[in-house]
Amino acid sequence: MKVVGESVFLGTSVNIIIGSHLWVEDQSLAWIDGQVTKINGDEVEIQTTHGKTVIASFRNIYPKDMEAPAGGVDDMTKLSYLHEPGVLQNLATRFQLNEIYTYTGSILIAINPFQRLPHLYEAHMMEQYKGAPLGELSPHVFAIADVAFRAMINDGKSNSILVSGESGAGKTETTKMLMRYLAYLGGRKGTEGRTVEQQVLESNPVLEAFGNAKTVRNNNSSRFGKFVELQFDKHGRISGAAIRTYLLERSRVCQISDPERNYHCFYLLCAAPPEEIEKYKLGNPKSFHYLNQSNCYELVGVSDAHDYLATRRAMDVVGISEKEQEAIFRVVAAILHLGNVEFAKGKEIDSSVLKDDKSKFHLQMTAELLMCDLAALEDALLRRVMVTPEEVIKRSLDPDGATVSRDGLAKTIYSRLFDWLVDKINFSIGQDPNSKSLIGVLDIYGFESFKANRLYMLKYFRINTLVTRFLTELMTWGYVCLCSFEQFCINFTNEKLQQHFNQHVFKMEQEEYTKEEIDWSYIEFVDNQDVLDLIEKKPGGIIALLDEACMFPKSTHETFSQKLYQTFKAHKRFVKPKLSQTDFAIAHYAGEVQYQSDQFLDKNKDYGVPEHQDLLSASKCSFVAGLFPALPEEMTKSSSKSSKFSSIGSRFKLQLQQLMETLNSTEPHYIRCVKPNNLLRPAIFENVNIMQQLRCGGVLEAIRISCAGYPTRKTFFEFINRFSLLAPEVLEGNHDEKDACKKILGKMGLTRSQNTRSCRLCNGFNEPTVTDRTSLSRNR
Ligand code: ADP
Ligand code: MG
Repeated sequence: MKVVGESVFLGTSVNIIIGSHLWVEDQSLAWIDGQVTKINGDEVEIQTTHGKTVIASFRNIYPKDMEAPAGGVDDMTKLSYLHEPGVLQNLATRFQLNEIYTYTGSILIAINPFQRLPHLYEAHMMEQYKGAPLGELSPHVFAIADVAFRAMINDGKSNSILVSGESGAGKTETTKMLMRYLAYLGGRKGTEGRTVEQQVLESNPVLEAFGNAKTVRNNNSSRFGKFVELQFDKHGRISGAAIRTYLLERSRVCQISDPERNYHCFYLLCAAPPEEIEKYKLGNPKSFHYLNQSNCYELVGVSDAHDYLATRRAMDVVGISEKEQEAIFRVVAAILHLGNVEFAKGKEIDSSVLKDDKSKFHLQMTAELLMCDLAALEDALLRRVMVTPEEVIKRSLDPDGATVSRDGLAKTIYSRLFDWLVDKINFSIGQDPNSKSLIGVLDIYGFESFKANRLYMLKYFRINTLVTRFLTELMTWGYVCLCSFEQFCINFTNEKLQQHFNQHVFKMEQEEYTKEEIDWSYIEFVDNQDVLDLIEKKPGGIIALLDEACMFPKSTHETFSQKLYQTFKAHKRFVKPKLSQTDFAIAHYAGEVQYQSDQFLDKNKDYGVPEHQDLLSASKCSFVAGLFPALPEEMTKSSSKSSKFSSIGSRFKLQLQQLMETLNSTEPHYIRCVKPNNLLRPAIFENVNIMQQLRCGGVLEAIRISCAGYPTRKTFFEFINRFSLLAPEVLEGNHDEKDACKKILGKMGLTRSQNTRSCRLCNGFNEPTVTDRTSLSRNR
């Protein structure tokens, strides 16, 4: 074998020869395989299997495993070469065979099949996975749930399952399957009626009707994050549950763009039986402003009429009474009518009046349905009360101001309704105060990146690729940027979860090495604490500065941005885009994201307008009044701004802190959902897109942590199989596998210290480095 070149792989030189099979980076396919045909200085010429000849530097090539099983491996840590192209190839091979689940150690990667695969989830599958050790059967969500359940029973410790991925990747479906399986394990056999587990399962359709909507990325996209905590008694039966939700997207109630939809419940109600339509004076969804901003009203394969009845049934199961259900849908109808109230200029300057009779009708319907005073409702929409130290003045709003006021009211009512549903479900399911252990399941939005936004744009504006490219270019230069406060909060969540994930993966690695008595102290661990400090540090972080700006009346997004630029000019995770005076960018773990600051202040302010509050807390409908409980005296009387000020950012930060505390007290398990394509169609595997998701989901980071240690793991048996040809005599009469491995190493002149030092070489081409993998041998 003639060695003709050297490549640097995992920080160490490895030898390559003409004819070596390897992977080389490719713009459209991410990685492409080929064979070395020439070596010139630091470059190699490669003939790819796609018939192209490419020249690549030694730094950009990776060895290809020619002995990889045809059907791929079910656990990536079994790959001989643990690197990006190997991982991608393995997932692609399995996906083609409809094997959508693959482990990376204990992390489950789930690729959305975008087609029903009923055989995977049938009852007998649940039976099979019950009690089976992880890795014995094919990778599956049930296996992860089973591990969590067994760990809880055996160690009496709480567990959590964290499901992440971008919109449409399959998080919610995965979460539902996890809950179904846990309900199967922890349910009471043969019990009729409303059991805790039935209520937990039926809470899904209720929350989905009010918190999910069709978006360009997912026809049933959850517009909120969710953490479901299942409590178990000492016999391992579900004895209570709690659902926590995060950041419902409020803007969707009054603003949608083609081809998206508003929350499902609006369409469901418009498809309700005729007597309800008549009662609420509804009709075609096309007649409502909050729905007709988009041309999409129906979903393929979904009957809103059927789902309306199904939602009502699910509401029965979760303990929402008939009377409450009537009130809920009455409020939903009121919001639709409210959206149709329009304003025109009034006689006085900067004042407004109802535009026409149609608006008067809808206003009247809103007042009737909310059971509040008509004149007071009109007043609350058209005027604001200003309290000055001297007097109380009523100020009129111009038509734009009145429209903002109307939409503000609609959003507040809707988000209160959603919170009420969550509270009600929690109340009727009930908490078990004696529960010692729980299993938490987290279904939360994934990292929102620049690239994702590019694809979003493509669909969103229905523009062609060329225009998208142009816009993307502009985005790169800072002219256009689509990320706002919501993405900032979402990415903040993901930074938090990423830190948790890294710490866990790192800890698992350490434990593994300790168990094998391997020296691991050289692993450097890169933390993302600096990004978290930038965002949440108090005082001085972005959220704190934003709150400060919101409290100071003269602040604008310009002054806020200037403050950020000044404060963080030396922060290595903060970037001021060259061509924008108000945007800012953060170097997140998954890549740099540029945020548009214009709406940060507005979106962070959580003002309950006192006029709206007073109006609805006086409603004759106890349900509506209950959504707007009167504020404590001191809150209403106090004129100090800071005591009234409540910020979405700070509240979210607190919620996240509590979530992290809960998660930290549990043993975590991770499921990374991957969306194989943006067409939402089966059997299409988009390499570059998937690679980006693996990066954002921390899968590549987990692999990097593994690679910093010992990336390849073989059992003693596998090692002997592969390398005994180097010293066949050691096997004679030797039945101890570990001993045989030691002897093979000894024969090759590799001492223990050499093995440890050379571990970083292990994926190289040259045989002796491959031999070094002995030190990784472990008995499974
Ligand atoms: P996310 O919650 O990540 O946004 P969903 O869980 O809502 O995504 O999944 C989006 C869609 O993908 C679902 O409506 C369903 O059609 C499909 N899907 C997801 N997971 C599966 C699965 N395991 N089997 C079949 N279809 C799936
Ligand atoms: Mg979802």
